[in-house]
Formats: sequence, structure tokens, C-alpha cells
Amino acid sequence: MQYSLRKKVLVTGGAGFVGSRLCERLLQEGHEVLCVDNFFTGSRDNIRDLVPNPLFEVVRHDITQPLYVEADEIYNLACPASPVHYQFDPVQTTKVCVHGAINMLGLAKRTGARILQASTSEVYGDPEVHPQKEDYWGRVNPVGPRACYDEAKRCAETLFFDYRRQHTMPIKVARIFNTYGPRMQPRDGRVVSNFVVQALQGQPITIYGSGDQTRSFCYVDDMVQGLMDLMKTDDDFTGPINLGNPQEVSVLDLARQIIRQTGSNSPLVHEDPPEDDPRQRRPDISLARDELGWQPTVPLEAGLERTISWFRELRARGLA
Ligand code: NAD
Ligand code: UDP
Ligand code: UDP
Repeated sequence: MQYSLRKKVLVTGGAGFVGSRLCERLLQEGHEVLCVDNFFTGSRDNIRDLVPNPLFEVVRHDITQPLYVEADEIYNLACPASPVHYQFDPVQTTKVCVHGAINMLGLAKRTGARILQASTSEVYGDPEVHPQKEDYWGRVNPVGPRACYDEAKRCAETLFFDYRRQHTMPIKVARIFNTYGPRMQPRDGRVVSNFVVQALQGQPITIYGSGDQTRSFCYVDDMVQGLMDLMKTDDDFTGPINLGNPQEVSVLDLARQIIRQTGSNSPLVHEDPPEDDPRQRRPDISLARDELGWQPTVPLEAGLERTISWFRELRARGLA
């Protein structure tokens, strides 16, 4: 890449599931990448192949603390994403989202960097509007066990828009819907990783509640492409913008599909549903289609195939 086009890109949460894939793609495009991570849910394994690249640098740092580095672009992904992990230390989750956003926005303000926030479909809570469009304000329980994540991500969005209003900064807010693929942690607690690992181990597949709740799953490469496309938009485009795959599936059907694709004999067992579990979720992605020319390209079956291969390899190494 021409030196003048090369950017210094800061990726917080860069050792995580989505972040590590994003770092890899940015390096492929010829950019310099600074990965900042405290390794709470991320791992060195995720970025092992990137470390030898002279354009890649990693810093162990908790973004609730100030950080003084130089950057042209910032992708703010640091935050545990699985309910099991974000509910482990809920106060820290709120701090990562809120204090972390303030610090990264402060950094963007000082350096003039563009900054993109990895927000979430959880800002819609348990939605009464289906599919969800960006102008829907959501239905979130502010005092429930998911609030540390949902409300903190909502507050982070507020901070992004207030920094823009007060300081005219180039911000981008992506509302990410359920994303899956290689590098999910086997004990992460999310539905795709749980079901695939259970199916490969021949263990019962744990359906929380009836299993007729729905989600829409986006393959990680599609998501990373969407985030990079969003970063490239003009300064006057801020979002919030939904990124996700509109192919909706019930949890029960997902379990059946994973059993089929793994050839597993695992039985299905029903367990109590988690509190405030959203009943349905599907993105309306018309804005992403119109503004970014983006839409997912990997169907669920193909994405699951790659994810299952990843977990088979982990199992072969005794890691799942
Ligand atoms: P992940 O847990 O794999 O990655 C999060 C990364 O952030 C990890 O590497 C973790 O160690 C790091 N981190 C956590 N706290 C930190 C701190 N205080 N300072 C520095 N680093 C810290 O999760 P993911 O699935 O890759 O999600 C990435 C981002 O996308 C998150 O912000 C998440 O909220 C958002 N998101 C993800 C999904 C999804 O389905 N994967 C859906 C909606 C939103
Ligand atoms: N900050 C940071 N890195 C920077 C600039 C700022 O971590 O390069 C932090 C700083 O600690 C501050 C926060 O970002 O608390 C918000 O910065 P801002 O300039 O908005 O606020 P102020 O410094 O006026 O409190
Ligand atoms: N789920 C399930 N069994 C599991 C893990 C999750 O039935 O072993 C359900 C969960 O109750 C939710 C859906 O799958 O309805 C998605 O859960 P996940 O934690 O992956 O994501 P989120 O709820 O944050 O969308």
C-alpha cells in the first residue's frame, strides 16, 4: 500500500472474537494496527498469527484507564459480549462501555481520529417492533441482569452522539446483531458455541426455555466487512446502523441444524430461560444496503460448517 494511504488503526478488544478478525483484515489492507486488549475474554491465541507482522502491535491495557497513543481510526470493540461474561462482573461491564467510551472519545478528540463504536442489537432490548429498524428506541429493563450491558451500550451511543454534537467529531455507530464463527470461545456461553461444542461432545443440547425465541446470526467475515465499510463512509454519516443477517431462526431450529450438520446424536434438553431473554430479534438492514451497499453473503449453513470445523480442530488439540 502507498505510504500516504496507510492508516494507524487502533482496535480496542482486538484480541477478541470479532476484533482479531478485524485486525487481520486491516493488516491485509496494508494498515498499521494497534490492538489494545486486557485479555478478559480475548486471547493471545486469536492474534498469534498476526504478531510477526511488523505493522501489528499489541498492548495489554484496560480501556477504563486513559490511553495516550496516536491513531487515524479507532474501532472501539472492547467489552465482553456473551451474557455469561458480561454478567460475571456487571459493574466492570458498565465501566468498560461508559468510561471506556469516554476515554476513546477523548483520544479521538485529541488526535482527530474517526471513531467507530461496536454497539449492539441489545439496545432494542426485548423488542415490540419486528424486524428492528434504527429508529426504534427499544424496550430495555434498566434494572435487570442484562442492563449492565444493554444500558451501558445505550449510554455509550449517547456519548458518541454528544461528543459529535459538542466537538463535531467523525463518529460511526454500528448496532451489531448476533455474530458467530471461528474464534468464538468454547466456554463463552453463547448459543452457537454452546450447541456446537455440546453436539461434538455428544452432550445434551441445552435449550433455554421453549426454544421458540428467535435470533438472526451473521457470519463474522460479513460483520467485519460491514464494520470496515461503515468506517469508510463520509464524515456526515454517523449511523446508528444495523449490521446483521436478516435470516431469522428459532433456537430450537438452530439446535436441529447443528445436530444435522455435525451428525451428532445429542438429545435436546430444556432448561429454565434466562431472565429478560429477548423473544425475537431480526435486523432491518435497508439502511446498510442503501448507505454501505453491504449485505451478508454467507448463509447460515455455510457459516456453521466453518464454525464446526474450527471447533473440531480445537477438540483435536484438546481445547474443546
Ligand atoms: P469478545 O468477548 O470476544 O471480545 C471482546 C474483547 O474485549 C476481548 O478481547 C476482551 O478481552 C476485550 N476487553 C474486555 N474488556 C476490556 C477492557 N476493559 N479493556 C480492554 N479490552 C477489553 O466479544 P466479541 O464477540 O468479539 O464482541 C466484540 C464487540 O462487538 C463487543 O463490544 C460486543 O459488545 C460487540 N457485539 C458483539 C456481538 C456478537 O454477537 N459477537 C453482538 C453485538 C455486539
Ligand atoms: N483521554 C485519553 N486519551 C487521550 C485523550 C483523552 O484516554 O488521548 C481520556 C482522558 O483521560 C479524559 C477522557 O479521555 O478523561 C475524556 O477526554 P475529554 O478531552 O473529552 O475530556 P477532559 O479531558 O476534558 O475530561
Ligand atoms: N441459548 C440457549 N442455550 C444455550 C445458550 C443460549 O437456548 O446454551 C439461547 C438464549 O436463551 C437466547 C439465545 O439462545 O435466547 C441466544 O443467546 P446468546 O447468549 O448467544 O445471545 P443473546 O441472548 O445475547 O442474543
